[in-house]
Amino acid sequence: MSRDRFLSDAARVAGWIADYRERLPDLPVLARTEPGATAARLPAAPPEGPQPLEAILADLDAVIVPGLTHWNHPGFFAYFSSSSADPGVFAEFVAAALNVNAILWRTGPAATELEGRMMEWMRRFVGLPEGFHGVIQDTASSASFTALVAARERALPGTRDEGLAATGASARPVVYQSDQAHSSIDKAAVAGGIGLANVRHVPSDGRFRMRPEALEEAIRIDREGGRTPVMVTATIGTTSSTSVDPVEAIADVCAAHGIWLHVDAAYAGPAASLPELRPLFRGWERADSIVLNPHKWMMTPVDCSVLLFRDPEAFRASLALTPEYLRAEEAASNLSDIGLPLGRRFRALKLWFLFRWYGADGLRSILRRHVEMARAFRDWVERDPRFETAAPAPFSTVCFRAVPPEGGGPEDAWNRRLLAAVNARGRVFLSHTVLDGRFTLRLAIGSAWVREEDVTAARSELETVFEDMTTKGADAC
Ligand code: PLP
Repeated sequence: MSRDRFLSDAARVAGWIADYRERLPDLPVLARTEPGATAARLPAAPPEGPQPLEAILADLDAVIVPGLTHWNHPGFFAYFSSSSADPGVFAEFVAAALNVNAILWRTGPAATELEGRMMEWMRRFVGLPEGFHGVIQDTASSASFTALVAARERALPGTRDEGLAATGASARPVVYQSDQAHSSIDKAAVAGGIGLANVRHVPSDGRFRMRPEALEEAIRIDREGGRTPVMVTATIGTTSSTSVDPVEAIADVCAAHGIWLHVDAAYAGPAASLPELRPLFRGWERADSIVLNPHKWMMTPVDCSVLLFRDPEAFRASLALTPEYLRAEEAASNLSDIGLPLGRRFRALKLWFLFRWYGADGLRSILRRHVEMARAFRDWVERDPRFETAAPAPFSTVCFRAVPPEGGGPEDAWNRRLLAAVNARGRVFLSHTVLDGRFTLRLAIGSAWVREEDVTAARSELETVFEDMTTKGADAC
């Protein structure tokens, strides 16, 4: 492709993106499609000949966009936000063009070193002390798995070479997390050979925080039973309610028993950059490993998950493996030594663009605005007798429920219906969880695109549907 052709085609793609972004607020945020509908519109076989860019872009509009749930839509309040701010999109474009694969330092010297420096920037941004190193992983799931494998090797040395069987049944490894921890930690235990039966879901308190005394007790019982505690995961910002485990007390338990402490701050981590929220992170500086996801609450396009850790050797001892064809003479560390994949995308570029585009202070202002928007929404929930909060909201996510009117029927059914009807209208998309056995609505803020008016729209959508359900009956809505 000539330079001129590249420039004009790239401009067409950029134009398509700009147009998409402009009409995004008018599209239904949650896809209005059925399973199989998009596949049915796609040819079964690839075209034999080349097709023009216009045809591809036309099909993006005709076939793909109608089948999308729009994560960048300003009314996307479901799960945790994952949005792509412009600098992240530009960085992805450049990364794809460079196509550097930093499996070894020599295959991507600048990529390896930029990643190291971005980990240092991230450490400073979230206020962690010196002594933390890091690598970028695709997801928090991979990061927590990598931490678990390092913790397993530390607790049961030689497992890497001999396998778990060699450690003997009596050394049965166990891991601990609260009953609110994300399923990725359970999955890490599955993939890491620990087994779900050996995952202790330590009970949480009335505010969904792990009870450290219950953790201590579980460890005592396991130790007496001849088991080997491998890792404790504390969560700062749990998935359901964004509760914060008492990390300081958990760190004390881990220190007393010599157990690896992993902190899952996949969602909330970037908020540690705000001095006013920093107290919520107390104790995380004592962790052996920490995961936080710029691709959640830091507007970085998926995928970009940061794994920070104190002891690089613990990770190398568990996963580094260098076949002859990858041996190199340089005295440099290789990113592929920490984690499962050998090949890797140039993800550090996204953080570099993002940090420079906004500046640390600019990023803090955006996060602070999200927190303020969530507080305003929570205040409205607390004031409006038709709704009630379901959990504390320390960050930018509010858990709440509708209170059915007299004769409105069971609370769970009312809330389910309300959520389905609000989401079907297309202006906003909220998701749910279950807290204390009760169906709970969640509104999570954190997008590059969210505006005050979108949070107001969420309120009025909830109010409108609530009133409709009250006057017409829940089943009619
Ligand atoms: N940890 C927490 C607390 C989460 O909320 C999530 C996802 O929402 C994850 C881990 C998993 O993140 P990922 O999709 O990056 O694996």
